[in-house]
Amino acid sequence: MSQVAELVALQEIDAESAAARAALADVEARLQGDAELDEARRQLIQAEAERATIVATQRRLEDEVERLNDRIAPEEKRLYDGSVRNPKELTGIQHELELLKAARERQEDALVEVLDQAETASRQRSEAQGAVTRLEERWSRTQEELRLEARRLGDAIARIDQRREAQAARIPPRLLVTYEDLRRRKGGTAVARIKGNTCSGCRITIPDALRSRVLAGETVAQCPNCERIFHP
Ligand SMILES: [Zn+2]
Repeated sequence: MSQVAELVALQEIDAESAAARAALADVEARLQGDAELDEARRQLIQAEAERATIVATQRRLEDEVERLNDRIAPEEKRLYDGSVRNPKELTGIQHELELLKAARERQEDALVEVLDQAETASRQRSEAQGAVTRLEERWSRTQEELRLEARRLGDAIARIDQRREAQAARIPPRLLVTYEDLRRRKGGTAVARIKGNTCSGCRITIPDALRSRVLAGETVAQCPNCERIFHP
C-alpha cells in the first residue's frame, strides 16, 4: 500500500472511532437520568403536598364542629331541663344556641366541600404514584439496556484503538505528525480525494502538473489551498 493509501485507511479508522465515541457519549448522557420520571416525581411531591394541606383543613373543620357541639350540648340541656325559669334568660340561651348552630352549619358546609376535595386529592396522588412506579420500572429497564450498550461500545472502541495503533505504525512518523495536525485543524478530515481537477476538501482547482504527480502516485502532496493531503 502506498503511504497515502495507509493514511486513508487510518482516516477511516479515525472516523469509526469518532462515531463510536460519540455514540458512547450519547449513551452516557442518557444514563444521567429520565426527564419524564423526574417530572412524575415532582408531580407526586406536589400532589402529596396538596393532599396534606386539604387534610389539615379537614381536621381543623372537624375540630371546629366538635368544639361547637361541646358548646351546644350544655346550652340545650339548660334550655330543656327546667333549671332555668327566667324567660329573659331562656330567650338569651335560645339566641346563643341559634348563633352556635348557624356557626356549626357553616363549618359543616365547608367540611362537605373539603371532603370532596380530599377525595380528588387522594385520587390524584394515587395516579401520580402509579405514574412514578410505571416510569421507575421503565427507567430500570432502559438503564439496563444502556449499560449493556455502553459496555458493547467500550469494547468496540478498545478494538478500534488497537487497529488504529497498528495502522499508525505503518505510517512514517513525520507524515503521521502532519496527518494528526491536519486532522485537528480540518474537522477530522486530513486526506482529500482529487475529483476531476478539484480538491474534494476545499473545491479549489488543482494545477495540472501537481495533479499528474499525485495521480501517478509519485509523491505525497498537500493541497496548496486547504493543505489536506491528496489522495488520488
Ligand atoms: Zn484543498
